[in-house]
Amino acid sequence: MQSFWYRDVTQANFSSDIAHDLSGFLESIGSACGPETVTTDASVCGNYGQHTLPDADHIPSAVLFPDSTAAVQTIVRLANQYRVPLFPISMGRNLGLGSRAPMRSGQVVVDLGRRMNRIVEINDDLGFCVLEPGVTFDDLYAELERRGGSLMMSPTAGPPDGSVLGNALDKGGGSGPAGNHFDSVCGIEVVLGNGDIIRTGDGGLNADAHPNWHVTKYSFGPALDGLFTQSNYGIVTRAGIWLTHKPAHMRLFFFTFPDDADLAEIVELIRPIKARNLVPTLIRATNDLYLLSSQEQHPRYGSRDCSPLSDDERRDLQKRYGVGAWTVSGAVFGENDAATLRAMDRLRGHFQASGKARYISDEEARERPHLHAAVKSNSGQPAAGELGMLRWRPGDGAIWLTPGAPMIGSTVNTLQQECRRIANENGLDYMASFVCGPRFARGVHAIIFNRGDERERQAADRCYRAMAEAFRQRGIFVGRSPTSYQSFHQGQRTPEITRTTAALKAALDPNGIIAPGRYGIE
Ligand code: ADP
Repeated sequence: MQSFWYRDVTQANFSSDIAHDLSGFLESIGSACGPETVTTDASVCGNYGQHTLPDADHIPSAVLFPDSTAAVQTIVRLANQYRVPLFPISMGRNLGLGSRAPMRSGQVVVDLGRRMNRIVEINDDLGFCVLEPGVTFDDLYAELERRGGSLMMSPTAGPPDGSVLGNALDKGGGSGPAGNHFDSVCGIEVVLGNGDIIRTGDGGLNADAHPNWHVTKYSFGPALDGLFTQSNYGIVTRAGIWLTHKPAHMRLFFFTFPDDADLAEIVELIRPIKARNLVPTLIRATNDLYLLSSQEQHPRYGSRDCSPLSDDERRDLQKRYGVGAWTVSGAVFGENDAATLRAMDRLRGHFQASGKARYISDEEARERPHLHAAVKSNSGQPAAGELGMLRWRPGDGAIWLTPGAPMIGSTVNTLQQECRRIANENGLDYMASFVCGPRFARGVHAIIFNRGDERERQAADRCYRAMAEAFRQRGIFVGRSPTSYQSFHQGQRTPEITRTTAALKAALDPNGIIAPGRYGIE
């Protein structure tokens, strides 16, 4: 028994109030699961603790690398015994939302992605896959292509080495027809905080085979999958995820609109198209700086005045890249090229009727690097392009604010105007993208700042809170939350909801072992 590995572990920075025995816990994990399962190396822990949010890093006291569901169960049981709080991640590429840092310093990160990275199954006929947490968007794309490409997934425009399962569990979003990723989750395996292993849906039938596990969500009893999204009741060790059958032909489209206030008209134009399903993909409306910040740095950064770009400066930038204040993107599908061209003619007539929209064709878009992220992600291909926006200002600071709104033009436009004002008042540029379905526009606001500059850190924090509060006053909530703001958002909910999430926590994780504080649940 090599107990000396853990002698140097400091417990001083444990900010959890659970009584614990960290050294005893880590020794027991090493004995039960093998020494390669544990590290307390200071530089490794330091790396896992980094994130892009305004507050200080949250450094874990150890990182664990289980290789199986059984190992995860052992870890959870020992964590209960030694009262050590865990923080599970899949690939931990949750940029702008907390990266792979735990909720609080001292929590032990359980990195599932490193060794649990099998594609368990791909079912070409029924259109689903079963994945372990470490399967990345790049991995799944490569495997689907290797099999002949009859199925496609919905990637994010975020890190291609992010986890498909982790992103879906945290209600991530992407492009294409299946852009709301949690919608595609069907049937999961979870190690609960109390150490039990459960399989949701028809996976819970006492039988040797489970042919319905990943094909229906409407099984006997309550639909439990939803309990494990944005919560801390268990550690998910595998998930069924639905895939889309690739169309014979696909044609991307882009329309640019010149003015900020055109967002109202854009939303009104998109709604009937999505309501009648004339376009199978979600349709995205992205503002100038969200789109173009990936291409260059703030032109005045480093000089004394790096105030937000003026309207004239933005117009110059738009002109240089051949876009407008808003760029609308999506794709039509068809049996052959002629069918997609016919669909495009109808769509052009619809969008260009008011005389404001300018069309950018599929062929033209492929020539323009700033549109590549949209081209790729609508085609089911992971694309890192958008992440370039972190270089708009130095210092790698980024917060994602993710409110949504009903698909009513005036509502979405008012929010846009108000958030633009708040960003500019805080000395920051307004960057936003709305991903539109028939009823709901999922909004993504990127707050990009220099994390190395205390004034910018404070400005970004003020900006996030002010925007979130402006949304709350209109009854609009965020869809995902950065870890550092989860208790703030829980405080915006009714006490009855907080009591309910706490009661579920007490039932499923009575010792509060899994990610205490995650999504405001202690
Ligand atoms: P990605 O690599 O796609 O960005 P992450 O691993 O960062 O995904 O996961 C996003 C969030 O979901 C994290 O905050 C993490 O706490 C939670 N999470 C990820 N995977 C699991 C899992 N297998 N079980 C429970 N929670 C998870």
